[in-house]
Amino acid sequence: MIRMSAEVIKVLKSKPFDKSRWMQLPRDVVIGHDVLSQIPAICEDLKLGSSALVISGKSTMDLAGSQVCKYLNDAYTIRTFSAPAINEKVIRSGEKAAKKADFVIGVGGGRVIDTAKIVSYNTDRQFISVPTAASHDGIASARASVPSADGHASLDAHPPIAIVADTGIIAAAPHRLLASGCADIISNYTAILDWELAHRVKGEPMSEYAMALAKMTAEILVSNAQVIRPHSEEAAWFVTKALVSSGVAMSIAGSSRPGSGGEHKFSHALDRLAPGKALHGESCGIGTIISMYLHGGDWKGIRASLKAIGAPVTPADVGIDDETAVQALLMAKTIRPERFTIFDMGITEDSARKLVKMLYQE
Ligand SMILES: [Zn+2]
Repeated sequence: MIRMSAEVIKVLKSKPFDKSRWMQLPRDVVIGHDVLSQIPAICEDLKLGSSALVISGKSTMDLAGSQVCKYLNDAYTIRTFSAPAINEKVIRSGEKAAKKADFVIGVGGGRVIDTAKIVSYNTDRQFISVPTAASHDGIASARASVPSADGHASLDAHPPIAIVADTGIIAAAPHRLLASGCADIISNYTAILDWELAHRVKGEPMSEYAMALAKMTAEILVSNAQVIRPHSEEAAWFVTKALVSSGVAMSIAGSSRPGSGGEHKFSHALDRLAPGKALHGESCGIGTIISMYLHGGDWKGIRASLKAIGAPVTPADVGIDDETAVQALLMAKTIRPERFTIFDMGITEDSARKLVKMLYQE
């Protein structure tokens, strides 16, 4: 028998280890061709109950929601809820509907998935994410974004218990959505640099596992950029896996840090100043080029990858004038100020103008 020496016990008591972290991860992840038919088996595997609320958008109900209902109809009591937009009113009526069901299935794009995520979290129901597009990493993460009076708020929720992503459906979605999802993954590069910076400047704790996973996910995507073609099921497969992997990195970190740095603050500022113009990933991609330049990294390489994938690289590409982008750069530090990034290092109006101009440089 091995005995702990009195000396060791004394050391342990003098420096108690008091760290703890709760990592919530999805349990069943099914990505691939024609996988919606596997939803009954997944529900059975997870023992979620006997009745489900299927939350969907108007067109996504026709596209995939009705198929999900059809597959589950024999064994489950199905209710449907249409979420035409994401706002307080829709969320409240979604919650009412969810209380009559054992679990929630969100079938649709980013807004539908976010609505289902919040509704299920607030009603203490499990939630299955069935994305119809691979446009951002919210399909697998614990956070949901809801529009608010001053832009939008990022809310804490739980990650989906399962993700069922049909690559055929995702490949059929507009390429702009997939390219935006790629840009959201590419932003992991600068999100991590910002995290390292916050660690050095502010002593913020880091998770090396979460960082390594987020970085590797972006690297794999960039090194396979030639696969990312419009309406290719292989591309849909690649990007969806990468989005799930980014979501898992956030779950390991217990925050969105591995996938969200200054480029995301810029994106949120742009959302406020020019609402509805750029998709989330698109503005994050543009912010990543600027952030990478500020970090002294290969910003031209980031720009080339975004271009190759078909994502925008300048404000003009998304129909936003340069002055608005300049103002967004200046505003970025006021968004989520507790999240320290390179954008907090004192960008002046003059330097912001130069940074935006640089995006157009050959
Ligand atoms: Zn994002």
